[in-house]
Amino acid sequence: MKVPLLDLHRQNGPLKKEFLMAFERVLNGQRFILGEELETFESNITSHTDCQFALGVSSGTDALLLALMALGLKAGDEIITTPYTFFATVGAILRMGATPIFVDIDPNTFNVDPDLIEKKITSKTKAIIVVHLFGQCCDMKKICSLAQNYNLSIVEDAAQSIESTFLGHKAGGIGDIGCFSFFPSKNLGALGDAGLVSTNNEEIFHKMKKIRNHGASPKYYHKFVGGNFRMDALQASFLNVKLKHLDSYIQKRIEHAAIYESFFKDYGQKKGTEYTLKIKLPTKYSCDSKHVYNQYVIKTKKRDELKKFLSLNDIESEIYYPLPMHLQECLANYNYAIGDFPMAEICSQTSLALPIYEGLSNQEIEYVVNKIFDFFQSDNQ
Ligand SMILES: *Cc1c(COP(=O)(O)O)cnc(C)c1O
Repeated sequence: MKVPLLDLHRQNGPLKKEFLMAFERVLNGQRFILGEELETFESNITSHTDCQFALGVSSGTDALLLALMALGLKAGDEIITTPYTFFATVGAILRMGATPIFVDIDPNTFNVDPDLIEKKITSKTKAIIVVHLFGQCCDMKKICSLAQNYNLSIVEDAAQSIESTFLGHKAGGIGDIGCFSFFPSKNLGALGDAGLVSTNNEEIFHKMKKIRNHGASPKYYHKFVGGNFRMDALQASFLNVKLKHLDSYIQKRIEHAAIYESFFKDYGQKKGTEYTLKIKLPTKYSCDSKHVYNQYVIKTKKRDELKKFLSLNDIESEIYYPLPMHLQECLANYNYAIGDFPMAEICSQTSLALPIYEGLSNQEIEYVVNKIFDFFQSDNQ
């Protein structure tokens, strides 16, 4: 059996007719950038982000950059974030000329450890970018109270976590600005690049709207520098087709995570192996919260060998992320060293993402679990 890490055809295939109709609408309308399709999307998505205002943008990366620009951050400002994320989070900080200040993660959740933040705050600290990694929010209660005490802005990188919640609040609606990505592999994926910024602050909303279009207001009059961060009408029209299914896509991912867990338990009992000794399954917070499993990430010391074994058995898996941000070559001038953020480093060496997408079948999940047990038994670990 072949199990791909992600098979988008299973999600997009059944919607082909609707996509073609959307394409035709846009083609007939001849409005290719921003426009009505996007306005419809922006008004429909607000309920998914707990925000009054939403702006479609060109990508999740641009959403982050736009958010930092709207907050007026500048060279020399310090922005606290995690070393364990996709590069875009840190890239946005560096492109602003600001300084990323890393805080190590909680290895159970892969998210920033809120108890380590306070000692990194200085008089230059202006903002925190929290990354709700793999589909689960950071501990926002602690982070929001710190931000309030020190007067810091919070940008939420919710690229992987639309519809995840923490204590009843949705990702992207908790801090000052939420940033989302609709890269095809995200839980809500476009048919190309697209992203979103969301906020409950009307002033920030109006500023972001101008920055999205070169800071122009009115057209051809520029009070500040923005960029071309606009979303294509076509992507908006495709997202309008898919948004209706978002809740069911997420429900499926949550079910699949539960099925993984029950197969791991069953096989562990059947084969008399204590799987918990060898692999750590994803951890969910015990408080009221919702994990939306953009990725299903397990941890094992035998990660590289397991990945190879799965690949030989036609099962795709992926490493998110093999090198933490502080050890990236383009940050060499910050003089970080191995050992500076040990939890992020350990997770980089032990984490492995298994297929979790919504079109996966129970048989495929069982096959993956079966092969993982075969690996540990044949290896006599
Ligand atoms: C995908 C992703 C981004 C970037 O989004 P793009 O739409 O690909 O530009 C940023 N941050 C995180 C955590 C991501 O997973």
